[in-house]
Amino acid sequence: MSKRLSVFSPAKLNLYLNVLDKGVDGYHGIETVFQGIDLFDHLIFELTEAEADFKPEIMINLSSGRQKHLVPTDKRNLVYQAAKLYFRKIEADNLNLTVTLNKNIPVSGGLAGGSSNAAATLYALNYILGEPLKQHEVLELCRELGSDVPFCYLGGCMLGTGRGDQLTRLSLPLEFIFVIVFPPADLELKAKDVYETFDKLNQNKKTEVSIEKFIETMLTKSTGISKYLYNSLEEAVISLSFWVDKAKSAIDSKGYTSLVSGSGPTVFTLAPNEAQAKQLRLKLVDEGFEVAIHRAIDNSFQVIAH
Ligand code: ATP
Repeated sequence: MSKRLSVFSPAKLNLYLNVLDKGVDGYHGIETVFQGIDLFDHLIFELTEAEADFKPEIMINLSSGRQKHLVPTDKRNLVYQAAKLYFRKIEADNLNLTVTLNKNIPVSGGLAGGSSNAAATLYALNYILGEPLKQHEVLELCRELGSDVPFCYLGGCMLGTGRGDQLTRLSLPLEFIFVIVFPPADLELKAKDVYETFDKLNQNKKTEVSIEKFIETMLTKSTGISKYLYNSLEEAVISLSFWVDKAKSAIDSKGYTSLVSGSGPTVFTLAPNEAQAKQLRLKLVDEGFEVAIHRAIDNSFQVIAH
């Protein structure tokens, strides 16, 4: 057996992120609105049966792509961990997997690139092997891999509660056009550091916009929602990175409302139409930022079977 599948795995933005008090497990609960966007990593999966007397292997090759030096190719890679978990779950001990990974999503950018790759791996293996696991079983594996992974598997637009892994699909307007400012290649923020800083700043502040209000506003006034974008972690992210402050000021000074995605440092805003998005991009590029325009998507992976 030798089977090949090509999968495009998308990035996400958090349009709203409210960090709640810590639970008994020591983790903060969150309320968030996830939105998948048309920015994709590309993964090619090749599955073969290991020959007798050969130990099966999981190999990850990085093809050209951004921030290659920040992506491990050993068992620290979430693709490796997802494959290992999947093989253990289906009790397969004779399969070789080679994954060629081309990164376009900024690493440690708050765009869930690694989580998306992990979800894509579970999806690809289950697809190639004829779906031995049902969707709820794959979602269980997603939860074991990380709190953003279940969303990455389902994609589109979703409300996330709990640790972000309790999901409800939202059918929000999809004409969103995002202008996204990518962090410099050497700027990495670890979610753990951001949450620690958030705790130190000890924000007992209450958000002015509740998740219910945010969703209601999105459903009814898609063009005016910019001012309701919200992220509790933003202050912590800004205190860890001068660049984030600079990028936000550059956007805000042009009459837009900027927001950090997830635990940062990527910064984005919503543009009312393509022409204005392009205009804003040009201005920001002139100021030395790396900027891209992306749209909301309503599903997760794009797949090409070979
Ligand atoms: P999140 O928004 O879920 O916090 P992120 O976008 O901030 O995610 P990622 O790019 O998913 O962060 O990855 C962060 C860390 O995970 C980095 O330290 C990176 O080395 C490691 N990593 C492991 N596997 C991958 C992968 N397949 N792609 C990118 N990073 C990976």
